[in-house]
Amino acid sequence: MALNVVMLGPPGAGKGTQSERFARTHGLPKIATGDILREAVKAKTPMGLAAGAAMDAGELLGDDVMIGIVGDRLARPDTQAGFVLDGFPRTVTQASALDRIMHGRGPLVVIDIVVPEDVLLRRLAARRICGACGVNAPVEWISSCGVCGGPLVTRTDDSDGIVAGRLKVYHRETRPIVEFYSGRPTFRTIDGNLPPDVVTASMDAAVREASVVPGEARA
Ligand SMILES: [Zn+2]
Repeated sequence: MALNVVMLGPPGAGKGTQSERFARTHGLPKIATGDILREAVKAKTPMGLAAGAAMDAGELLGDDVMIGIVGDRLARPDTQAGFVLDGFPRTVTQASALDRIMHGRGPLVVIDIVVPEDVLLRRLAARRICGACGVNAPVEWISSCGVCGGPLVTRTDDSDGIVAGRLKVYHRETRPIVEFYSGRPTFRTIDGNLPPDVVTASMDAAVREASVVPGEARA
């Protein structure tokens, strides 16, 4: 059975880490919209050219471009056994288009990682990056960057009001998507306020359980 996963979750919920782990464990491509956008622009695909032109003009990318780029990516053969989608859909129009793209391809499991607001605020305020190369610092790095040896600093865009503002924008933008999916039997909420390994295990169980098509024999 294919494991087709859409990840939802606010900044600081561990969405990036968990989607990365899930993709790696199951040998599936992790499809993050930022990455495939850059790829498409570089490869000068028709959709990439449209995206590049819009970004050069300082415009936000419309649904058509985003849907085109994600659709192209999901048409590649490495997604046959499944994928983890991070950062898409962002609008109900995109979510409906994804349903059309997924038609006949097995269930689409939507995982929403939920973490209390005060915990998110604390996590985001403590998030550190390398002051030299900008890479995100895992907790194991004590004071210097594991990549380039540079000093670790607290992310400036994560201070106080900016963090709260980002979360507010996230919830406002994501609420319609959660409503779009929440009535489905393949929608799962998982508790992100637990140790990362526990979240990984519960996500794994949720996706496997939700991916079984009714009537299909369990492997
Ligand atoms: Zn560095």
